[in-house]
Amino acid sequence: MAKHFKVIIIGSGPAGFTAALYASRANLEVAIFEGNQPGGQLTITTDVENYPGFADGIEGPEMMEIFRKQAQRFGAVSLFETIEKVDFSERPFKLKSERDEYTCDALIIATGATAKLLDIESERKYWGSGISACATCDGFFFKGEKIFVIGGGDTAMEEANYLTHFGESVTLVHRRSEFRASKIMVERTQKNPKVKIITDSIVDEFLGEENMGIKRLTGLRLKNVVTGEMSNHEAGGCFIAIGHSPNTSLFEGKLDKDENGYLITQGKSTYTNIPGVFACGDVQDHVYRQAVTAAGSGCAAAIDAERWLAEQE
Ligand code: NDP
Repeated sequence: MAKHFKVIIIGSGPAGFTAALYASRANLEVAIFEGNQPGGQLTITTDVENYPGFADGIEGPEMMEIFRKQAQRFGAVSLFETIEKVDFSERPFKLKSERDEYTCDALIIATGATAKLLDIESERKYWGSGISACATCDGFFFKGEKIFVIGGGDTAMEEANYLTHFGESVTLVHRRSEFRASKIMVERTQKNPKVKIITDSIVDEFLGEENMGIKRLTGLRLKNVVTGEMSNHEAGGCFIAIGHSPNTSLFEGKLDKDENGYLITQGKSTYTNIPGVFACGDVQDHVYRQAVTAAGSGCAAAIDAERWLAEQE
């Protein structure tokens, strides 16, 4: 027999937990599926200094533990399982995890997005020790450093310009000589005297040092893909800005997505194209991607779900 909940939330980042908090406080029976990365992207971040309410900053994993506790206080049930199958063909909706079967009257999707990485060994080694995928989150920690940004899209351009507020210098490295970014963003970056652009180049290896177990990025080796030439560069920080993938494979062919694979929500609401299925956080937002904006849209999804459920009764 499938276990039934009034509201099921898939995803346990700031959007998922905020939706769980609001829905359970509205007296709905709520289960939150935490998936294979409980706490979401913030659990691989160190200090979070831009979430309002934490004047001294807080570590990402600790913050997510507080989010979880607050949702559980009102009765939300955390399930450390991953939903592998969904069926929206009739109500209640059916969900299947690796362990069990569930049904729900309303579903909130908060599965987030995953930053694309270069996928080289040294990147894993210095991840969080000089390498990051979010300039808004971590730029502040690289004051006065030589900073590199990898990528040639709008995000890379935006991050390179933003990082000039902190770095001694910012160098943008792109694998081609043509940019994917919009013309205006490229021109702005080219005109910024604090940004240097290196084209036709990829990161061959990240360089660093390890002292008493503490790792630190110190530079990177670039390879020119046209000439094959290698060059070493000093770097205190490097931001990988080669795009994000929304975690939507579970909903393939079931929910409307935009051309980049993000779930489409209607207007300012969190309604998807299936009544009773709502989406919030990074899985439907490729623009802001902040913990606080994700939490805000999680709140909106819970309110939308609660009102929609009330209309059904
Ligand atoms: P994009 O997919 O647009 O760009 C990714 C960039 O990374 C491309 O230049 C790509 O190179 C490069 N890249 C991809 N994989 C690798 C790799 N393995 N090694 C090296 N380089 C790689 O992602 P963005 O995050 O920049 O943008 C996503 C969306 O968000 C876009 O629609 C963008 O317009 C939008 N956006 C808009 C902003 C704004 O309007 N202010 C700000 C930020 C984003 P290549 O070109 O060779 O494929």
